[in-house]
This record gives sequence, C-alpha cells and structure tokens, in this order.
Amino acid sequence: MHRLVARGLLALALLAGVAAWLPSSLAHASGGRKVPDLRRDAGSWMPARRAQALRIPITLHLATQDGASVTSGRDVQAWVQRANVALARFGIEVDVVAVRRMPAGFTSVTHWRSRRALAGYAPNDGTVHMFAIETLDDGRRNRRVRGLHWRYRGLARGLRGRQYVVVTREAPSTTFAHEIGHLLGLRHSTRTDNIMCSCRSGLDVDFTETQGMAMRDGARRLAVQQGRAPAGVIAGRRHRPR
Ligand SMILES: [Zn+2]
Repeated sequence: MHRLVARGLLALALLAGVAAWLPSSLAHASGGRKVPDLRRDAGSWMPARRAQALRIPITLHLATQDGASVTSGRDVQAWVQRANVALARFGIEVDVVAVRRMPAGFTSVTHWRSRRALAGYAPNDGTVHMFAIETLDDGRRNRRVRGLHWRYRGLARGLRGRQYVVVTREAPSTTFAHEIGHLLGLRHSTRTDNIMCSCRSGLDVDFTETQGMAMRDGARRLAVQQGRAPAGVIAGRRHRPR
C-alpha cells in the first residue's frame, strides 16, 4: 500500500516538477537573440508561481495493523490535494517528500504518553511530520477527534522544537488543511464556512484572506525554524503575538 502511495505522490511531484521546469527551459532553449522578445521571454523574467510558493515539505507516517496501513493511499492523497486547493491562493504548498510505515502499536493515540511517543518519530529534520492513524482523542475528556496539531512545550531537551500533525482514518478531506492552519499559527474560527471552525460543518469551507496572510508569515517562520530559509526572510516583518 505505502509503495503505491509513494509512487503516486512521486508521480505527482515529477509532473509538478516538469511543469515548473518547462517554461524556463523553453525560454533558454531559444537563446541567441539580441533583442528581447517580451512575449516569448516572459517565462524567464516572470518566475513560475511554484518557485515563489512557500513550500512545506511533509514526511508522511502511516500507522499499520497486521502489516497493512490503516488509511488508504487514496484518502491521504485527497487530504493533501484538498489542503493545496485551500492554500494555493496564498502561495503556500504542502509537498509530501517521504512516506514511512510505522511499526505496529500506533493505530490509536488516546493518551498523552502515546502523543509523546509519536514525537520520537518526528525528528527536527526540516520536514513537517504527519501521522495517518486510526483513532485519536483530545487527551483530556476522552472525546474522539479527527485531527491534531501537537507541539512539545516541556523542558526535555531531546523533544524541544518537536511538533507534528495527526489525521485519522475517518477524517473528512479538510481536516489535514485545518491542522496545517494550526501548524502555521491559526486559531479556531467560529464561522461555519471556515476551515478553522471546529464545528464539523460541511466540506464547502475555506480560509479567509487574513488567515492566508497569517499563514504566509507562519510558513516563513517555520522555514527559518526548520533551517530551510535564512533568518533574513522574516526580518522586518511584524511578528503577530501567538
Ligand atoms: Zn483545531
């Protein structure tokens, strides 16, 4: 199952890569002209949208039972695609760069200890770790939830800076986008047409412009925290209180 997921995602990534590479390579291939042809050369001086995107690399961890993933590859792809549909207009893109199968024992995350145990699989390796599991609760009232953004707030040096997102098998396709919103600094919204509403409304939900701008700041901060961008990219920007 995971190979299929990996292959599908790889194919998507390759397609996107080819699409991003094509215009500039065509522009370069036509070299030798002295006078610029603005229409033909547009591709070389207008960077492709993808190149400007704030890209968030994701490591996807699949919980397994009896050797098989508890979530389907099709579901996980739908979560990622739905998130990208919502994030695209803010120039943010999630990109699955690695798919890993978890050992048995991580299908259900229903206690703070199991949350802490998951953190062991979420090293600070420059990617955002996403766990696709079967069941999850909110850790306090034993209420079933469908997704989670977890951040370590304790003093243990080995866990400092660790965070991850969890999405469960029965989650709708918007849950992953919701958790990415938390990851990028958003709080809950009370508007039922908003992705950040925890009200379990329908699927026709979106982020607002304000949330989009806040997420762009969050994505820049994350890139710096994860060592994917120099600190200068957020210098001079107003930091919103969290
Ligand atoms: Zn939430």
